[in-house]
Amino acid sequence: MTVPEKGPGFRPVIDVRALTKYYGLQPALRNIDLRIDPGEVLVIFGPNGAGKSTLMRILATLAKPSSGAVTIGGLDLNAKANEVRRSIGVITHQPLLYDELTAYENLQFYGRMYRVAGLEERIRNIISEVGLELRLFHRVRTFSRGMQQRLSLARALLHDPPILLLDEPETGLDQQASNLLKQKIDSYRTQNRTVVVTTHHLEHGLELASRIVVLYKGKLAYQEARGNLNVHAFVQNYCQLIGANP
Ligand code: ADP
Ligand code: MG
Repeated sequence: MTVPEKGPGFRPVIDVRALTKYYGLQPALRNIDLRIDPGEVLVIFGPNGAGKSTLMRILATLAKPSSGAVTIGGLDLNAKANEVRRSIGVITHQPLLYDELTAYENLQFYGRMYRVAGLEERIRNIISEVGLELRLFHRVRTFSRGMQQRLSLARALLHDPPILLLDEPETGLDQQASNLLKQKIDSYRTQNRTVVVTTHHLEHGLELASRIVVLYKGKLAYQEARGNLNVHAFVQNYCQLIGANP
């Protein structure tokens, strides 16, 4: 249950303190405390409605907390949202793409916003990495869900951000693209970068994680380093918690 103590002056890359989020009178997140270090792949599990997307949207500066504080790379999200955005790559339920623009135009738009150096070449590289080079000049509205998700991945990686925030990134991805995503996540870990990923797929999540947390009814119900986890017991308990069969 404990996260190792760090020496003096150590700063987590993501620091969430007493975070609460209400929608109307309904709390979606209740007093969340969470610190995430460089090199961590933090996997967030939780049933539908647990608050995973709400938490990810707040970290991604797409929603605001009702109370509490979040810093990313030492920057307060409220005060420095634009700066924070340059250091994060985001995949959410919304693809954050413009339907009427081509894949190229979408990447160009985000690349300019993030001030990506050598943008033209970077677009060519990233688009071929996600296997969409033949679709580069097609409008996004003609893309299948899987192709949109590949392009979202390209958009998220375009500015080579040190932090990835991935909310159920596997949704709609085919096997090949999901292998690519897995490779990316592994390379983030080995480069001492940071990934936060939500999933309801236990097996995939456990494979990727260096630490897991469980959100349940807006609360941080459990957390453990992957290396200390008794997988069998965890799966049993988790399935009992969410009322599913292991
Ligand atoms: P998860 O991603 O774990 O399924 P969400 O963060 O999407 O959970 O939702 C957490 C809770 O907040 C749910 O009860 C959901 O109905 C509610 N909620 C999420 N977004 C909104 C919104 N924009 N307006 C009102 N309620 C919302
Ligand atoms: Mg969600």
